[in-house]
Amino acid sequence: MSEIEIKCTECGTQTKEARDITFSTTVDGREIVITGLTGSRCPVCKEEYLDADSSEKSLEIANKFRRPAIVFKRKVTVSGGRRVIGIPEEIDRALGKKENVDLWLEGDKIVAEVY
Ligand SMILES: [Zn+2]
Repeated sequence: MSEIEIKCTECGTQTKEARDITFSTTVDGREIVITGLTGSRCPVCKEEYLDADSSEKSLEIANKFRRPAIVFKRKVTVSGGRRVIGIPEEIDRALGKKENVDLWLEGDKIVAEVY
């Protein structure tokens, strides 16, 4: 386990393997906490170091919470007694032939996963 047993950059102590690291970061003003990551921890000052896999994983998760650079604004209209949101042309083009959508709410956000 030489890859993960590194010396602490804070105090120089040999770190120990850890499989219960919690990583928190702020993305676009929202706090994200990721638990159960692997890496190593300093037994003296408790500084934690993520291994390569966990670094990549947490970056991937954090990126999912990043707000997109382009936001299309649409009004919710009514069609056949139902409320309808039009899909912007640019997004529709990117969807290609995908035609199934799972929808759920995240706070006041409607999240659509297409497949
Ligand atoms: Zn230390």
